[in-house]
Amino acid sequence: MRDAGKAALAALGVYRRRLHRLPYPGVAVLAYHGVCADHGPGARMQGGALHVSVSRLEEQCRALARHCTPITGREFLAIARGEAAAPSRAVLVTFDDGYASMLTHALPVLARHGVPAVVFVCPDPIERQVRFWFDAVAERRGDAAIRALKEASHEEWRRAVSADEMSADRADPHRPLTVTELRELAAHPLVEVGGHTLTHPILARAPEEVQAREIAGSAAAIREWLGADPALFAYPNGRPGIDFTDATIALVAAHYGDAFAVGDAFTEPSAERYRQRRFLMLDTVSAAELAHRLAVSWPRLPEPS
Ligand SMILES: [Zn+2]
Repeated sequence: MRDAGKAALAALGVYRRRLHRLPYPGVAVLAYHGVCADHGPGARMQGGALHVSVSRLEEQCRALARHCTPITGREFLAIARGEAAAPSRAVLVTFDDGYASMLTHALPVLARHGVPAVVFVCPDPIERQVRFWFDAVAERRGDAAIRALKEASHEEWRRAVSADEMSADRADPHRPLTVTELRELAAHPLVEVGGHTLTHPILARAPEEVQAREIAGSAAAIREWLGADPALFAYPNGRPGIDFTDATIALVAAHYGDAFAVGDAFTEPSAERYRQRRFLMLDTVSAAELAHRLAVSWPRLPEPS
């Protein structure tokens, strides 16, 4: 179905009525990354559609608040542990990596719509104020080099990313949060901070002692900075069996209460512990498209006629 058709169905309330009748197949966990300005120097970002514009996030949050029940990370964990039932049409919003744009661009939108979020951060680039490795590599050598490094051995990846390291100044739209900004973000009642490793390696390529350091180190830095243990973790890149393994899960389980992968499907929180699936969110998803996905394509229901 074309965009105009979806917009017409959304305007007629077709998606809304469907959603309210729907037996929701689990929790829809959404995976965002950065948020960028609509205009000006930060409007065109490396990583393209992974950075959702402020106006796009605004319409997506409006649709989520209207059609679904946004829950917190803490509520998700209680559902996963069998201590609480999922509300109908439960949605959990997550953001990966820890861009400064979480505070400057995303938080005002989340607050306007009352949508809670879990922000998974990498403490090393935050502490040292350098770009996330993929944003530095994209700038120096292009997107194909990122894809190649995700498949490279851990040693080769480590060598390449330290050679390509870029410091991030205050004007850089790709800069990570500072520690002070992370504290400010975490102090907001709608925000919870989770771990995402120290430096964002592909864990499955790394020796177990390196994985252990990356996972434990992320929890320790967050505890030191925010004064509380993080409860949730997201695997870098996140493909089960490819980017993380059962050995990784055992290491994560020693420090975190649950963990998120990718997988573009509803997750069944109590059945998918430490491999919770998430839908990737992009700037190309309009409010009507999001309503269509929530009511039709994600639950794999026939198109409305
Ligand atoms: Zn990430």
